[in-house]
Amino acid sequence: MQHELNLKPYNTFGIAANALHFASFNEVQQLPALLNAYPHLPLLILGGGSNVLFTADFEGLVLRNEIKGIELLKEDADNVYVKSGAGEVWHEFVCHCIDHHWAGLENLSLIPGSVGASPMQNIGAYGVEIKDVFHELSAYHIASGEIHTFNKQQCQFGYRESVFKRALKNQYIIIDVTFKLHKVANVKTSYGAIQQELEKMGITEPTIQTVSKAVIAIRQSKLPDPKVLGNAGSFFKNPVVSMQLFETIKRNYPEVSFYPVSETEVKLAAGWLIEKAGFKGLKKENCGVHDKQALVLVNYGKSTGQEILDLSTQIIEQIQKLFGLTLEREVNIIPNHESIL
Ligand SMILES: Cc1cc2nc3c(=O)[nH]c(=O)nc-3n(C[C@H](O)[C@H](O)[C@H](O)COP(=O)(O)OP(=O)(O)OC[C@H]3O[C@@H](n4cnc5c(N)ncnc54)[C@H](O)[C@@H]3O)c2cc1C
Repeated sequence: MQHELNLKPYNTFGIAANALHFASFNEVQQLPALLNAYPHLPLLILGGGSNVLFTADFEGLVLRNEIKGIELLKEDADNVYVKSGAGEVWHEFVCHCIDHHWAGLENLSLIPGSVGASPMQNIGAYGVEIKDVFHELSAYHIASGEIHTFNKQQCQFGYRESVFKRALKNQYIIIDVTFKLHKVANVKTSYGAIQQELEKMGITEPTIQTVSKAVIAIRQSKLPDPKVLGNAGSFFKNPVVSMQLFETIKRNYPEVSFYPVSETEVKLAAGWLIEKAGFKGLKKENCGVHDKQALVLVNYGKSTGQEILDLSTQIIEQIQKLFGLTLEREVNIIPNHESIL
């Protein structure tokens, strides 16, 4: 156990907040004693710290999940069932699967963070979400010390959502996740610039390896590397709005970027809205909005979490004024200020 630990190396925003107490664990058996150490203090389970913003010191216990291990559980004619410890690095797990010709995760290459956090917000990219290949997960129930299994339905996956962010928030520690992957690949190349990237690479018959390479190349060209420029990827979710509001926005901005989700609702590109509101490339003293992708807020090195939170509030207020909709933060604000504008 460490005390008053600077969390800067443990979050991709590179925010220098302190944890009052901090420990890592690599076995479930360690959890009862760790959780009993400070039962009355707030608890935070941390993976790679790539989807959190610390706005103050964390006056409680931070437990970093480092449970490792990848196991092929079973296979049938079409599928393999692969279990990964929650502390495996997501991209390394994706590469392991690609190396073994297990298909389904290639579009999710290079997403930072841990396997254990992937179901939290049903991570997604380039037309694929983990719910598409998710089988089940095991989670430690903090109150009872029991291990519970959750199937796909029980996880209640939605767009950057799961039951663990809502009804069961802060109640479970995910310890492993099992994916149902395919033996024969059905590669998805229609989303974003994958097809163009493959053409640039001279690929006419894409495989999971080449799709992964294309996704990596696109991501590296668009998204800042947290090792160079602190960030947590998309700071906001893409808002889903009523058809009525969409029509109003479209009247003023015929070029609005959108994606129909049902007969009554449309998803708008938050990055487009933020760019239209004039924030793209904005530099405040210590933080700003990335110049290639307006959805990404960045730390120029010395920012506090509060400065970044304030910038996000300014963006939310301006988008509200301009477009009549409220952007929701995707990044987890710690301590939780989610409801505070
Ligand atoms: C450059 C960049 C690009 C990104 N691109 C994408 C993208 O394309 N798609 C996407 O969906 N996300 C993206 N993200 C966000 C991020 O990578 C994912 O949300 C990732 O799953 C977070 O993993 P983590 O281990 O870092 O989680 P952390 O940031 O450590 O934790 C996130 C939340 O999950 C909780 N948590 C973590 N592990 C566990 C556990 N084992 N049990 C219970 N709770 C847990 C934490 O308490 C916290 O609330 C990006 C981030 C960056 C920095």
